[in-house]
Amino acid sequence: MRRIYLDNQATTPVDPRVAEAMFPFFTHKYGNAASRTHEFGREAERAVEEARARVAALVGAQPEEIVFTSGATESDNLAIKGVVRFHRARGNHVVTVATEHRAVLDACRALERDGEARVTLLPVDGEGLVDPAAVRAAIADSTVLVSVMIANNEIGVIQPVAEIGKICKERGVLFHADAAQAAGKIPVDVEAAGIDLLSVSAHKMYGPKGVGALYVRRRNPRVRLTPILDGGGHEGGLRSGTVPVPLAVGFGEAARISGVEMAAEAERMLSLRERLRRGIFDRLDRVRLNGHAGRRLPGNLNVSFECVESERLIDALDGVAVSSAAACTTAKIEPSHVLRAIGLPEPLAHAAIRFGIGRFNTEREIDITLDLLVKAVKGLRERSPLYRSSDS
Ligand SMILES: *Cc1c(COP(=O)(O)O)cnc(C)c1O
Repeated sequence: MRRIYLDNQATTPVDPRVAEAMFPFFTHKYGNAASRTHEFGREAERAVEEARARVAALVGAQPEEIVFTSGATESDNLAIKGVVRFHRARGNHVVTVATEHRAVLDACRALERDGEARVTLLPVDGEGLVDPAAVRAAIADSTVLVSVMIANNEIGVIQPVAEIGKICKERGVLFHADAAQAAGKIPVDVEAAGIDLLSVSAHKMYGPKGVGALYVRRRNPRVRLTPILDGGGHEGGLRSGTVPVPLAVGFGEAARISGVEMAAEAERMLSLRERLRRGIFDRLDRVRLNGHAGRRLPGNLNVSFECVESERLIDALDGVAVSSAAACTTAKIEPSHVLRAIGLPEPLAHAAIRFGIGRFNTEREIDITLDLLVKAVKGLRERSPLYRSSDS
């Protein structure tokens, strides 16, 4: 049976090197990293601290600025709710963007619903980019946080975070960036981009599911936030709960590998992505690229096929795993909020496919996918009265 995985924005397979690094921590190295009274605990603690340093190095941070969490969803929640709750006396206004991940949008919405925050949702242009000038204009005296993702999970668009970071610094407002898609794929540097809080997730960079991190700046300025969980005061009091040592170790190894191989891998992803894009645009008419052509993740392609329903196309692409929208919203079939935000008309939003190319994809897999895709689109269009009766 054919199985081609092209959904690397939903999750990535665990790199075998990562799995190998984790294994001893499931078997004989089972200490609790907080148990410093014996060697089992100290051995676990050393491993967790090494992992922390590796995650920090990937994003230009110091190890003590990394807080392990269960993933980017939790990191986003901790950053947004934590900052808003801590700074309640100073203001309650949050600025974010319409194309953010649900974890950011829903955390903001929850605060707004409970009367804890007032939220400004900025629009994006037709290519998915937010205007830094709009961020500047949205900042008020009551603004405590700006949250803008680095790279989008659906259309791969890379936001001008360094410009936004500079504006936030000038205005004395904290800047949170969701880097779940960006970290390990493109260079991320919290210093260069003026980022105060940064969310990352291991399973988007060939690490295990269930672990992530929040970078929390320690100086210029020292970021203060109120934790969500009460408990043993782990992770500098910001995230109580025993650190999952095997997951943290896997995360560290995934971060290390991504850092070392990033440039070469990005080049290879781009070449595979362009092979797929050229094939689609050369062999099919009436297709539309969603999201900015250049400012996007090397492994991401999001294309609408006119007069084709993406759910049908996905069924026809038997054995090739792609996604019609953000994986998190596919439980209910409604147009993605990201495609709506770039102004894509509803029929085109329902005709969109996200291809997420990753570390383990090959040229041959791209070619097989192309052949299947072209055949499937043509077949579906032959049966589409709309396609046959129109020629735009
Ligand atoms: C996947 C993803 C998340 C959620 O990460 P989890 O670790 O699965 O909770 C948040 N933001 C973006 C941009 C993502 O791609």
